[in-house]
Amino acid sequence: MIPSNAGRQADVRRPASSCVAKIFLVAALLAAHAHAEPRLAGVPGKLPKDVVPRHYALRITPAAGLERFEGRAIIDIEVTKAVPAITLNAAELAFSSARLSPGSGEDIDLAASFDAARETATLAPAGGLIAAGAYRLQIDYSGRIGRHPQGFYQLRYKSREEGRLAEKTMLATQMEPVHARKLFPGWDEPVFRATFELSAVVDEALTVISNMPEANSTPLAGGRKEVAFARSVPMSTYLVALFIGEMDKLEDSVDGIRLGIYTAKGKAGQARFAMQATKQIVRYFNGYFGVRYALPKLDQIAVPGGLSGAMENWGAIAYNESLLLHDPAEPSLRQRQRVFGIAAHEIAHQWFGNLVTMAWWDNLWLNEGFATWMATRTAERFHPEWGAAKRSALFKDRAMGEDARRTTHPIQTPVEDDARAMDVFDSITYGKGEAFIRMLEVYVGEDVFRDGIRRYMRAHAFSNTTTADLWRHLAEASGRDIQALAARWTEQPGYPVVKVAQRCERGKAVLALAQERFTLNDPAAPSLTWSIPVTLAGAHGERRTLLLGEAPVEARFESCRPVRANAGSAGYFRVQYDAQSQQRIAASRLDALERLRLLQDAFALVQAGRLDVARYLAMMDAPGAETDRSVWEHVIGALRFLRELIDAPEERAAFDRYIVRVLGKPFRRVGWEARPAEDGDTPILRAALIEALGRAGDAAVIGEARARFLGRDSRPIEATIRPAVLNVVGRYADEKTFESLLALMRSVTNFGQKLEAQSALRQLADPQLAQRWLELLLRTDELPPGEAVSNLSRLGGDSGQVELGWRFTIAHLPEIYAKASPRGRVYVLPAAAGPFADPARAEELLALTRANLDAGALYEAEKTADWIRLKASVKAREMRAATDWAKARP
Ligand SMILES: [Zn+2]
Repeated sequence: MIPSNAGRQADVRRPASSCVAKIFLVAALLAAHAHAEPRLAGVPGKLPKDVVPRHYALRITPAAGLERFEGRAIIDIEVTKAVPAITLNAAELAFSSARLSPGSGEDIDLAASFDAARETATLAPAGGLIAAGAYRLQIDYSGRIGRHPQGFYQLRYKSREEGRLAEKTMLATQMEPVHARKLFPGWDEPVFRATFELSAVVDEALTVISNMPEANSTPLAGGRKEVAFARSVPMSTYLVALFIGEMDKLEDSVDGIRLGIYTAKGKAGQARFAMQATKQIVRYFNGYFGVRYALPKLDQIAVPGGLSGAMENWGAIAYNESLLLHDPAEPSLRQRQRVFGIAAHEIAHQWFGNLVTMAWWDNLWLNEGFATWMATRTAERFHPEWGAAKRSALFKDRAMGEDARRTTHPIQTPVEDDARAMDVFDSITYGKGEAFIRMLEVYVGEDVFRDGIRRYMRAHAFSNTTTADLWRHLAEASGRDIQALAARWTEQPGYPVVKVAQRCERGKAVLALAQERFTLNDPAAPSLTWSIPVTLAGAHGERRTLLLGEAPVEARFESCRPVRANAGSAGYFRVQYDAQSQQRIAASRLDALERLRLLQDAFALVQAGRLDVARYLAMMDAPGAETDRSVWEHVIGALRFLRELIDAPEERAAFDRYIVRVLGKPFRRVGWEARPAEDGDTPILRAALIEALGRAGDAAVIGEARARFLGRDSRPIEATIRPAVLNVVGRYADEKTFESLLALMRSVTNFGQKLEAQSALRQLADPQLAQRWLELLLRTDELPPGEAVSNLSRLGGDSGQVELGWRFTIAHLPEIYAKASPRGRVYVLPAAAGPFADPARAEELLALTRANLDAGALYEAEKTADWIRLKASVKAREMRAATDWAKARP
């Protein structure tokens, strides 16, 4: 999953003959794996393990009005020992009957009692026990179709039909982690794999998509039809999918697997790039994993709203359309990179996650870290010019920022209750997970690592695993004790800083290396050590990897020129050189990835109080000829971090002038206009610089952005820079511009462009306009409730009107909570308070959270409170020096 936190095609009929082949293939797969037994013992979870589902037949009938649905679930179960009752998951479902049929004998009526907090139902016979054996459980029930992407939900969107805007509705599902129980009663924990046969009763004209291919479609009275899907492979409930709506489809195939991309009407032409990427990715993964994709088809659905990220439903991956579609009329390299990367992530899950599934949410990191790593590796393979490793380094740096704080957690972290499963979908799980897997791959070698993955896939296909299973197979492939190396990285929080001191002895370099735990603001953190593969590189290209343990070590190099640690940048640790080596390395020739990492490490050392801010600014200020966009993206982020710690308006203005001077250099080089021969990174760098210069008040950039916005009808703004231009325009909007941005948001039918308009409106610096936008978000149904809440709570941070955003949020908290989903509520106060750098606000955030939400919301609030305190400590320590530096360099 990727949580939130982006011309009509003729329908091509597939030849009937290929369907037959696929059915045989499925049958063969099922025969091979029907007896894969789930390993239940010792797996956490709420549900007793003595009743196990084998097969679900589900029939779903949405009611007219699309607010509710009727369901029938027929579940083949096995009772392994006599039980007084059957407990399974059900949330927001009303049962009308529940009956148990033994293989022979009378049916048994069951009485249902519900535990709403635990999201379970207990079904008990009138008297006596349910004996061990096989049964068929039939439940007739009804449920709710929600407005948030949790369970079965409806999303409304606009479509342009004959020049007019029409309101449309699509039905969709989002089950991970714990929402399948809102569509059907069942064993909604990942270890309970079962096969599924879904059917849905819908209006005749609608398209219905599920995990498996359609088996048949039966016309019903009243212009309805029942669409039934083929029996699935054994899978976890969180991967079940159902989509219903008016859609267009783009079709293709690769290696005998049918590929479909479904879009809202009129958008199938925008799916061509994703289809081409999918073909490359699926073929590559068929080879990499050594096990073919397991289903006869792979559909991807571009959902025009609702879900803001993407979800790897087996055979029916869902994306927000802004993450899957690429409009050929608006070519954008950034969009192609996004589509490719997210598709590779979700498709990697079809193996790693779906075919082999974590037994419980405590091993989520392995799914997500692996899929994230695989996406980077796939982009590097097919598009080396995209610099995916540098993108991944920016992502890793974010995870390292969180992982060095008091509120971090190990990537493999206990999840006692599945209600807490969403807590682990964070940048530590994804970013540290990816970084650790990459470090391990580099350490054991690419081929050995792939061999281990292949062994793991073969051994555990159609079953559930823990991290230890993967280490066992990697150990077999590599002949090394992977478990011992990995345990400290996956089971301990945080990471080390490697301290490197270099001296010259008789013309040879001697490096002393030692490790300690790196924290940003947690001096009392337990001292931990790791087994660290450190790659050293000398000035003449010689490289050496050593495993640094608890004891310091020395390494010798032939010449006294500076030796770099973490060469290749695959390590998940910071490096702190002695002062002289630091300066010599900064001044030496490094590739972009190493320049980026040197700056990132230096900035983290500043935040931790290990390096003076002026030293970092001197490094950052030096690269006048720096051309790399990722390096500049880091610099822009660091300057923004520092700028937001300054309170006094005249000091802020001075720092803004400094930012304009620093970023003006690269911007003069890239300019506003795309040049024919420029590389793909240049437009992306251009966009980042326009936005940052506009934010810092560069009058020329603001003027040009306005002019381009006003002239957009006669000369469309180039797609890559358009979000940046709109953000600058939004920041300095007057009343008339505000109205134009609103009109833009209301008229676009493309979700990505709708997001661009919303982002521009979140930048409003004029307090009265900001207030009007907030009122509109709160008081109207113009945006879906989840989108409205997210825009509302992020306004302060984006616009700089932090106090206004915070006051508005706390003044209307009950109304905002009423709009938000239960999970969405958790983020409202943290998002609004996050931009503060005053410890008193951290306390206010925690007090308000305790007063308004249950204890489950506290973790997010604590993370944000810690972030606020960290900024306050950097502010107290470094801001004098930072502003002095800026003022001394007008
Ligand atoms: Zn994922």
